[in-house]
Amino acid sequence: MTTRIHNFNAGPAALPLDVLQQAQAELLNFNNTGMSILEISHRSKPYEQVNAEAEANLKELLGLGENYRVLFLQGGASLQFAMVPLNFLPQGQTADYILSGSWSEKALKEAQLIGQTHVAATTAGENYRRVPGLAEIKPSASPAYIHLTSNNTIFGTQWAEFPSFGDIPLIADMSSDILCKPFDASKFALIYAGAQKNLGPAGVTIVIIRQDLLENSPGAIPTMLRYSTHAKNDSLYNTPPTFGVYMIHLVLRWIKAQGGLAGIEKQNRAKAGLIYDAIDQSGGYYRGHAEPDSRSLMNITFRLPNEELEQTFVAQAAQAGLGGLKGHRSVGGLRASVYNAVTRKSCQALRDFMLGFQQNNS
Ligand SMILES: *Cc1c(COP(=O)(O)O)cnc(C)c1O
Repeated sequence: MTTRIHNFNAGPAALPLDVLQQAQAELLNFNNTGMSILEISHRSKPYEQVNAEAEANLKELLGLGENYRVLFLQGGASLQFAMVPLNFLPQGQTADYILSGSWSEKALKEAQLIGQTHVAATTAGENYRRVPGLAEIKPSASPAYIHLTSNNTIFGTQWAEFPSFGDIPLIADMSSDILCKPFDASKFALIYAGAQKNLGPAGVTIVIIRQDLLENSPGAIPTMLRYSTHAKNDSLYNTPPTFGVYMIHLVLRWIKAQGGLAGIEKQNRAKAGLIYDAIDQSGGYYRGHAEPDSRSLMNITFRLPNEELEQTFVAQAAQAGLGGLKGHRSVGGLRASVYNAVTRKSCQALRDFMLGFQQNNS
């Protein structure tokens, strides 16, 4: 392979070419330090600047002010499944979970190890073809918080509009769609996301948390698992994943240069539209897994007439320089992940491939 392919991997996933090139250019000498960012102290000025600018840019992109903090943590979104209830589910209270896919099931499972839970809505019975409608959500009497998954990476569904629950803290796993379009982030008490889908490389988890939640953080859980520890120390309590935070910092600058979230959304709608159109205009040859009003802008899941054709599709696509298209086993078929960094050109190439494949194989 001598050139870069069209990368539809689900995660870790494509990064913007500009960002990779800048990281490459700075790798031996970051900011005139005579060292790479990999080789300097997390307590040095150059790193502190990266850390501070990344927090400021993320808050700016989300329109959040002084009452929110951004934390750069480790352990993936999967550790957040446990940290959320450890910090916010006291004994005697109930945490509500909205189930819209495998990742929300996993989040619920961790909370069940820690305290009392309630399933406020689920679309499991329909193999998660859609997210629950707002009217289907039945919260418990007085939940400690309500948790949802904004984009279901495996099933290819996404909330078009988020529910509101007044003063009840709303918590979201946004691992696979954070910063893909504008949304009202101030609706959420806490948002978390593993970086490896839409923000940067694996190894960093971002947590966006409302300040007032930090005040009730219980003292009886391990120091590293308390959000307040990381907030008090600007994510520098212990050695953070410095290279990953630096890459996120470059990605955030890149998003700003794309016109922020409004600019990114425009690109994402055009990109996903190319592929959904190929599905919709195929006369049933390609069948989308998600119901149209729950379709994800980030993960496009679809089937072909049979499994043999699906295997041929994946193999021939790879030959044509289109990678990462094999679907997750719980849905089968194909999945094209078209995160922010995947270009329109790549989406056009996939669309063209889909049209040609149908013509040659039906
Ligand atoms: C990938 C993914 C996860 C798991 O993330 P890790 O960082 O591997 O723990 C959780 N939730 C969603 C929505 C995901 O897409």
